[in-house]
Amino acid sequence: MNPEMIEKIWERCGGKCECVKAAHNHPGGKCNAEIVKEMLDKSEVGGWKICKMFVAGGDNINAYTVYCNECYRQLPSVLHKEDRFGA
Ligand SMILES: [Zn+2]
Ligand SMILES: [Zn+2]
Repeated sequence: MNPEMIEKIWERCGGKCECVKAAHNHPGGKCNAEIVKEMLDKSEVGGWKICKMFVAGGDNINAYTVYCNECYRQLPSVLHKEDRFGA
């Protein structure tokens, strides 16, 4: 993933976790936890991850979802393979 895409995905998420997993019981249905741009792929507070939602995503940013660390930890491990993009 190139930095330009990360930029676009970051703009879309507005600095908030995009998780809508029902299993996480987020109030209002969406996590919205605040994340920090510089903290991509970091495990400290404000850290976040970009997960690819379907394999043939290419450079379609809609194929990716932003997760805070808290939500990321709760995702099925199958999603943890190909999503190490680094900052
Ligand atoms: Zn979250
Ligand atoms: Zn969540």
